[in-house]
Amino acid sequence: MKRIAVYPGSFDPVTYGHLDIIKRSLVLFDQVIIAVLRNTMKKSLFTAQERYDMLREVTSTLPNVQIEVFGGLLVDYMKDKSAIAIIRGLRAVSDFEHEFQMALVNKKLDSKVETLFMMTSERYLYLSSSMVKEIVTFKGNALNFVPPYVSKKLEEKLNLN
Ligand code: ADP
Repeated sequence: MKRIAVYPGSFDPVTYGHLDIIKRSLVLFDQVIIAVLRNTMKKSLFTAQERYDMLREVTSTLPNVQIEVFGGLLVDYMKDKSAIAIIRGLRAVSDFEHEFQMALVNKKLDSKVETLFMMTSERYLYLSSSMVKEIVTFKGNALNFVPPYVSKKLEEKLNLN
């Protein structure tokens, strides 16, 4: 039996913080499905297809990664994929309350679903997609935070070149 995990998120856009979680999950699972949320309540800068394309590009050298755009109930998706765990990253205490609530709701919806929290690597503690968007908006250099491909897409999207 393959051990499959799902890493859901908006990935608007994918950062080195996300990539770190993805690489570390691959040590624990046979396959990691990155589920790009289409129906997020947050307004996203990139379309789901653009977020998918960036993830595709920056994970192309990683084995056992699959990327899908997903909308609907995560627990249904988990069943559909025969996945055993939801992966989420935790940065500061401020992430905790929301993550805790989501994990409990998912557990209530399907008691077999486990949520696995991975602590951020120290160097990515401060890193978020929204922070990167802000940096690029003000013409800052984002190359310490996102791969060059993503940085270029951000500049294009924000009409900075
Ligand atoms: P969402 O909108 O679902 O929170 P994000 O794309 O912002 O989606 O994040 C997806 C997941 O990755 C979340 O669990 C988030 O906490 C985690 N994550 C984001 N940035 C980092 C980081 N720098 N280090 C560790 N985990 C992170």
